Amino acid sequence: MKSRSFFSGRNACSVFHILHLLHAILVSAYKPLSDSFLRNVPSGDSDFNIENGTLLAPILIPRVPGTPGQSKVQHHFVDFFRTELPKWTIEWQNSTSTTPATGNVEVPFANLIFKREPPWTKPGQANLLTLVAHYDSKYQPGGFVGATDSAAPCAVLMHVARSIDKYVTQMHDEMAELGEGGTVEMDMGVQILLLDGEEAFVKWTDEDSLYGSRALAETWAAAPNPPMSKYPNPLSQISVFVLLDLLGSANPKVPSYFLTTHWAYKSMASIEERMRNLSLLETKPPSSFLPQTGEVVTQSFVSDDYLPFMARGVPVLHVIPSPFPDVWHTMDDDGAHLDLPTVRDWAKIVTAFALEWLDMMEVWYEPEENA
Ligand SMILES: [Zn+2]
Repeated sequence: MKSRSFFSGRNACSVFHILHLLHAILVSAYKPLSDSFLRNVPSGDSDFNIENGTLLAPILIPRVPGTPGQSKVQHHFVDFFRTELPKWTIEWQNSTSTTPATGNVEVPFANLIFKREPPWTKPGQANLLTLVAHYDSKYQPGGFVGATDSAAPCAVLMHVARSIDKYVTQMHDEMAELGEGGTVEMDMGVQILLLDGEEAFVKWTDEDSLYGSRALAETWAAAPNPPMSKYPNPLSQISVFVLLDLLGSANPKVPSYFLTTHWAYKSMASIEERMRNLSLLETKPPSSFLPQTGEVVTQSFVSDDYLPFMARGVPVLHVIPSPFPDVWHTMDDDGAHLDLPTVRDWAKIVTAFALEWLDMMEVWYEPEENA
C-alpha cells in the first residue's frame, strides 16, 4: 500500500525527512476522513436495542463490584472480543479495596484492557489512542442500572472496536508487508479501557471513588517498559485518554474542558459537524453535541476516571455533558430513558474520530464516481 506518510519514503531527500519528522511530532497531522468514508461509518442499528441488542442489552443490569452482575458484564465484554475481535489482546488489571459501605470486606475491582498494537512494535514502542468508560454501577439505590452511567458508553466503545477492526487489520498488514514503522505516526495502536469501581459506595471522596482507575494508573506508573523503550511505561504510551461518561440522553452538550486537548476536541466537533451536514446523524438537537464556540471551560471540570491519569501527565479529552442528564444517579437512568438515536449518533461520531486519529484515509479507497 501507500506509506502512511507522504514523506516517509526511504529515499526521501533531507528536506522531506525534516518535514516527516515535524509531521511525526505533530501526531495530529492526520488526514480528515473523506465524505465517502464518513458515509461508510456504521451506525450500530440493532447493537443498541435495549431488549435484545447484542452489545448494550447485556450491560443493562446492576453490576456493582463484588456481585454476580459484575462478573456477568465482564464475561460479556471478554466473550465479545474473543469471538468477534480475536486480534485484540485482553488483559485484566485486578485490585481489591475496602469501601465505607462494606466494612472489612475486600471488594474486587477488575479493569479490562483490550488492545491492538502494530504487529512490528516492541513492548513500549507503540503510542495508543485510549478510549475509556467505566462499567460498574452504583451500590445504592438497589437495582440501579446506570444506562448513561456508563452502560451506553461501554456499548459505544464495543461498537467502535468492531467498526475500526478491519481497517486496523488492513493498515497493520500493509505496513508490515512494506516493512514500515518506527515513527510516532506509524507506530499507532488503540486500546479500550473498561474500568471498574468508578462510583462511590457511600459518598464521593478521594478514597470512596475511582477505585479501578486509581489502581490502574498506579500500576502502570510502576510498570517500567524494557530499558531503551521509546516510552518509559504504559502511561506514557497513551497518546490521548478519551473518556466517555453519562452519554445516551437526548440533547447533550459536551464542552471542551482542557486547553491541552482542545485541538482533539475540535477534531471530534468537526467530525460531528461534517456528519450533520451530510445528514449522517439521526438526531436534530437544538445545538451540537460538541459546540464549537471556541471556549474552553477550564474552571468547571468534572471529577472522573481521568483524574489519576491526568495527575501523571496523560492528556485527557473528557466527553461528558454539562449539565449532566436529568436522570443522573436516579432509578430513571435505565434503558427505557435512553435516547437511542443519540446513542447511535455518539457511536458514529466516536468511530469516525478513532478512524481519523488512526489515519485510516491511508487504507480508504474512494469509490468510483458514477460518471
Ligand atoms: Zn455515576
